[in-house]
Amino acid sequence: MPPENRPVPPAGQVLDRLEAIQGHLDVRSGGRTRLLPVTKAFPVEVVSSVLAAGFQDVGENYAQELLEKNRQLSPGRVGWHMIGGLQRNKVRRLAGVVKLWQTVDRASLLDEIAKRDSGARILVQVDPLNGEGKAGCPPSEVEELVARGVDSGLDVAGLMTVGAAGDPAATRRAFKVLAELADSLDLAERSMGMTDDMDLAVDMGSTMVRVGRALFGERLPR
Ligand SMILES: *Cc1c(COP(=O)(O)O)cnc(C)c1O
Repeated sequence: MPPENRPVPPAGQVLDRLEAIQGHLDVRSGGRTRLLPVTKAFPVEVVSSVLAAGFQDVGENYAQELLEKNRQLSPGRVGWHMIGGLQRNKVRRLAGVVKLWQTVDRASLLDEIAKRDSGARILVQVDPLNGEGKAGCPPSEVEELVARGVDSGLDVAGLMTVGAAGDPAATRRAFKVLAELADSLDLAERSMGMTDDMDLAVDMGSTMVRVGRALFGERLPR
């Protein structure tokens, strides 16, 4: 179903929830964790509500959807975060639009971003538990990928990961490994935590939680 057919949460409700969750995060993290609203599968009106509430940065998973929403808003209004798995051939069109590339998990993708969007700000996506078929680079390769980014002139701001759905114990281990890796490489940004594991992520040192459902409601299947 295309995004325009999704139910649209009203702007007032979006504002209330943004304030409630950011307030909760401020208390729980002592001001260290910020909230990145994730608008995937919701129409562009929801992005407008987020902007009206005073948030500038927004996360999207799919290149096409991000570009379409960007086109419908005034240029430069949104600080887009690319948080979904990314093919190299999408980088060129996203360059100059994306503010933070959160899913850089391999050298070929990193090189393409360095080529098309010089000096771009990136996070290295990690699969801390080295799971079968999971997105992210294995912990043993993070240091090399970070160094490659720095050598390519990219602004490597930190690391990003996705927890293990429905498995709080594994998620806790994953977040711990991510925080330790970030510490050892002296990287400030730790993008971890979503609706279901937000508090756990905060307790493990997240600097940015990426939240969709808790703000906007359930997504219909894509
Ligand atoms: C969809 C998604 C989110 C937001 O998930 P919610 O469960 O809706 O909070 C965060 N990060 C990534 C990488 C996602 O794909």
